[in-house]
Amino acid sequence: MATVLPTLLGTGWPPDAHHHLWATDMTRVSEHFTNAEFTCKCGQCAFADGGDPHLALLAVLEDVRAEFGPVTVTPNGGRRCPDWNKVCGGAPRSQHIEGNAADIVVFKTSPIVVYEFLTEHPLADRMGLGSYDSFTHVDVRGSAARWVG
Ligand SMILES: [Zn+2]
Ligand SMILES: [Zn+2]
Repeated sequence: MATVLPTLLGTGWPPDAHHHLWATDMTRVSEHFTNAEFTCKCGQCAFADGGDPHLALLAVLEDVRAEFGPVTVTPNGGRRCPDWNKVCGGAPRSQHIEGNAADIVVFKTSPIVVYEFLTEHPLADRMGLGSYDSFTHVDVRGSAARWVG
């Protein structure tokens, strides 16, 4: 993918040649996840290439994968800079801004099942968990929070 960028330079898109709208940092940040999966999709900020997710979050996501199989982070479900968080309609102090959160979809497993699994996780009292129609929110905020979106 990185080889595509030079052909776009000088075309006025992407707006800033140093940043782009697709993920590039394929560095593995845990056994099954790459930094690219957590990028901020604004395409403008320091997290446009890789989201640098919290290590505790990655450990929890690996546990979800071990239980259910492949885990996908939704397009805006990784890191969000404050401006992009506003665009996404995120809470003002969203854990996505800190790199502490992921919105995830698990293959062939409904969000509420993933949510319930996480409520039983050893670190559950330090996690924020939200169950939505199409994904599960998990964050490692350090205290417990629960909601159904
Ligand atoms: Zn951003
Ligand atoms: Zn979320």
